[in-house]
Amino acid sequence: MSRRLNRMKKKIAIFGSTGSIGTQALDVIATHPDKFEVEILTAHSNDMLLVDQAKKFNPNAVVIVNEGKYTAVKEALAGTDVKVFAGEKALEEVASFDTYDMMLAAIVGFAGLKSTLTAIDSGKAIALANKETLVVAGDIVMQRAVEKRVPVIPVDSEHSAIFQCLVGETRNKIEKVILTASGGPFLGKKPNFLVNVKKEHALQHPNWNMGAKISVDSATLMNKGLEMIEAKWLFNLQPDQIQVIIHPQSIIHSMVQFEDGSVKAQMGLPDMKLPIQYALAFPQRITSNFPRYDFSRSSALHFEQPDIKTFRNLALAGEALNKSGNMPCILNAANEIAVYGFLRNRIGFLDITELVERAMDKISYIPKPTLEEYFESDAEARNFAASLINL
Ligand code: NAD
Ligand code: MG
Repeated sequence: MSRRLNRMKKKIAIFGSTGSIGTQALDVIATHPDKFEVEILTAHSNDMLLVDQAKKFNPNAVVIVNEGKYTAVKEALAGTDVKVFAGEKALEEVASFDTYDMMLAAIVGFAGLKSTLTAIDSGKAIALANKETLVVAGDIVMQRAVEKRVPVIPVDSEHSAIFQCLVGETRNKIEKVILTASGGPFLGKKPNFLVNVKKEHALQHPNWNMGAKISVDSATLMNKGLEMIEAKWLFNLQPDQIQVIIHPQSIIHSMVQFEDGSVKAQMGLPDMKLPIQYALAFPQRITSNFPRYDFSRSSALHFEQPDIKTFRNLALAGEALNKSGNMPCILNAANEIAVYGFLRNRIGFLDITELVERAMDKISYIPKPTLEEYFESDAEARNFAASLINL
């Protein structure tokens, strides 16, 4: 390949390359080798998959966060040019490299915050899958992005939908956004059923195949709660401009209603590769052979109100959205611990909400936290929630 063509390729750093989003992003990149090049890959502990990915995509560097796996990765990549780093700090170190153009932030949870901030500070475009980053410290993340003039392009399907609806509408006021939710595997169920569900049930999402944490969040509707907060920061909205509606078919990925009452929706089959590819290639749309939605064979699309009496996480997230400050950070930290506890069969499904609510009551409210205070609130809420379930 000539140098000139090579320079036209976008160099991508995938943080969290071994996860559901990370692996799908690599599928997208593999089908567009003329458009993208992989510069950095990172994983927490799946060393073998990271090595396979590195051999296939030949990045400049990889990070294995779990230091105990360093030697295995280093040895497996001996004889290649790939630089191998290990440990949590290395994530920030490679995020500050000037050799890539865009970070796909696909680490799960609060753990993705620091490296994403580092990438923004070093002027990299962000394709953002890691919604927790905005839930925890959305004000600081978005402000830094504005200061550094870096685009934050959502990968989350609802936010990608809204983003796509807003193309060409920069001067027009949003009346509200309508976030669609599939309702998850327990749509229509009541507490007497939910009290007995186990992780095996919660991990069976009807429409999407995702990582464990977000699958549980989808089952509890916390995912939609986190997405309301994510939407506030991405699109600069007031809480009353964000509506959630259940749409079990997941064909409409979200909608925007404008001042004139007109509503725009973005539609398609539920496949995360589409919003991933859109974010990587933005502002271009590039070809794909993903299956198409066939209107001539489709049945009705349904909409209903979420049952927030049963799925109280949505109400708690609404409360955190209204209070703002460090409340979303507290909600997120307690939820991460609660989901971790549920996935290890330490607590029941309904206890997740209980734990989040108790943390929101207990941890001191700070209206306008500094980044340091966000980190402190996160640690406090985590420790408190962990102490309640003897983690
Ligand atoms: P996943 O669990 O499948 O993958 C997570 C990735 O992050 C893995 O590569 C893992 O090695 C890495 N990781 C985990 N803990 C880490 C830590 N402490 N430090 C560094 N790296 C760590 O998760 P996923 O489903 O791919 O989701 C990733 C993010 O994208 C989440 O924030 C999720 O909410 C968001 N998201 C996912 C989907 C989806 O369809 N999977 C859709 C929308 C948004
Ligand atoms: Mg989503």
